[in-house]
Amino acid sequence: MTEIEVNQEEWLEDFDFEPCEEISHVEEEALGTRAGAYTGSVQNAPGCSTMVANGLSQQLIHEVNLMIPGVLVSFDDLNVNLGNAAYPFLQPQAKEALAKAIRDRQNEAGEANRNKTLRVNSTYRTLVQQYLLYGWRGGRRGCPYGLVAPPGRSNHQGGLAIDINDHLGWRPHLERYGWQWFGNRDKPHFTYRGSGTKDIRNHAIKAFQRLWNRNHPDDQIAEDGIYGNNTASRINQTSVKGFTIAPWDTEPRLLRVSRPMTEGSDVIKVQEALQAKGFDIFPDGLFGNGTASIVKQFQEREGLVADGIVGSETREALFT
Ligand SMILES: [Zn+2]
Repeated sequence: MTEIEVNQEEWLEDFDFEPCEEISHVEEEALGTRAGAYTGSVQNAPGCSTMVANGLSQQLIHEVNLMIPGVLVSFDDLNVNLGNAAYPFLQPQAKEALAKAIRDRQNEAGEANRNKTLRVNSTYRTLVQQYLLYGWRGGRRGCPYGLVAPPGRSNHQGGLAIDINDHLGWRPHLERYGWQWFGNRDKPHFTYRGSGTKDIRNHAIKAFQRLWNRNHPDDQIAEDGIYGNNTASRINQTSVKGFTIAPWDTEPRLLRVSRPMTEGSDVIKVQEALQAKGFDIFPDGLFGNGTASIVKQFQEREGLVADGIVGSETREALFT
């Protein structure tokens, strides 16, 4: 893995370490008090949950996947128990290895192992999440975060990290398939060290820079994947809901019930289309169970597979 360049002295410190357990714990606690209705800029986002910027985070994940197709894949189809602030995305090789480790533990003799479900508290962290956490570090804005890596420098920006519970129980199984335990300093943290992966931490930054430029033709910034003041000031100005021109305008994504909840302008368009087709739905941009059940009704009416997921066939039926 190569380190990305940083251009400010404070960031020259070695940030290969973050206290993951503490960050996950504070984040989980903060979820209950988050200002869900906030729609302003990142700069004024109320603390202390990064889910306040769920809309922008989802755009950043999708944009990374436009830059390197399929580099971040969801693992919410594996037998895992996901924390509420965890975006369940890993690079495909890491996901495959995680699936093997889970099977490995399940196959091991003894009832004690058979019923263990892997609890994952944190995985992929988007640039804006890291930006918020970094801004809230050391008790700033009343948020009890301690040490946090600067944006672009976290192990959680590479799609190769997980923070889990029961690290002792899982360690032998994860290590068998290329997942390395960080050690006592950061007990819940494992990093995938197997072959075939890419260092995509700078892509987390570049994804934001590309989206900014696409939306601001008169205020172009360098798309260099380097985090500095130019990028930071643009993150500040961006809406927590994301950009007007979204990455799914370039290439649609699968819309389905997920955690964190699928959110965005593409969801609004689907909800408006359902409304226009006579369904009783309020376009709020959030793809929850209510929206999924109306999608199912629509699919049944159209003779499609009624799975509540908006893929290419359902999209075509909705928009033609
Ligand atoms: Zn971690």
